[in-house]
Amino acid sequence: MSEQTKPRIGVLAIQGDYAAHAAALAAAGAEPVEVRKPEQLAGLAGLILPGGESTTMLKFLESHGFFDSLREFCARKPVFGTCAGVILLAREVRHPKQKSLGVLDVAVERNAYGRQNESAILTAETKLEGGPLEMVFIRAPRIVERGEGVEVLAERDGFPALVRQGQMLAATFHPELSEDGRVHAAFVGMVRDQGSGNRDQG
Ligand code: GLN
Repeated sequence: MSEQTKPRIGVLAIQGDYAAHAAALAAAGAEPVEVRKPEQLAGLAGLILPGGESTTMLKFLESHGFFDSLREFCARKPVFGTCAGVILLAREVRHPKQKSLGVLDVAVERNAYGRQNESAILTAETKLEGGPLEMVFIRAPRIVERGEGVEVLAERDGFPALVRQGQMLAATFHPELSEDGRVHAAFVGMVRDQGSGNRDQG
């Protein structure tokens, strides 16, 4: 079955580098949609929670009646969190503690790399096809615990940096800042798979 309609994928556009995600989604064959209100989640096939400042995003989500609708969306549709987005998705946030959606079975430590190492560009092996992956880290969190259902697709210093749990993808780095479009392509693939799965059951 050919499925060449572009999936509509939202990018939470409260703060942070959502424009670069929108461009990466477009390059991967999706139609990006900037999301600033809970009503805008309706009709989306997937969603990206970008990097930025998780505390700021969390405050906005809580004060605009957005938090619960976002959690509900995560239970139904593919979601991709990057950096601060992973902090929002995590089951537990440390250093300091912070409320989160609790949908991704990981514990994260914020700003885990200290001041000297706030930003780094590394290249590492990945389970994604096509060889080593460039990873841009900016005040990155570290995934310090993960549940059995969380598959590791790439690591930094032995800690998971790119993970998948069912239809959720999470990167502690910023794939939207690399030329390499494979991470966004993988997510668009997950969104397409979910869409075709639903249709096939009908
Ligand atoms: N340090 C930020 C936080 O704790 C995350 C940084 C990022 O998204 N680049 O929310």
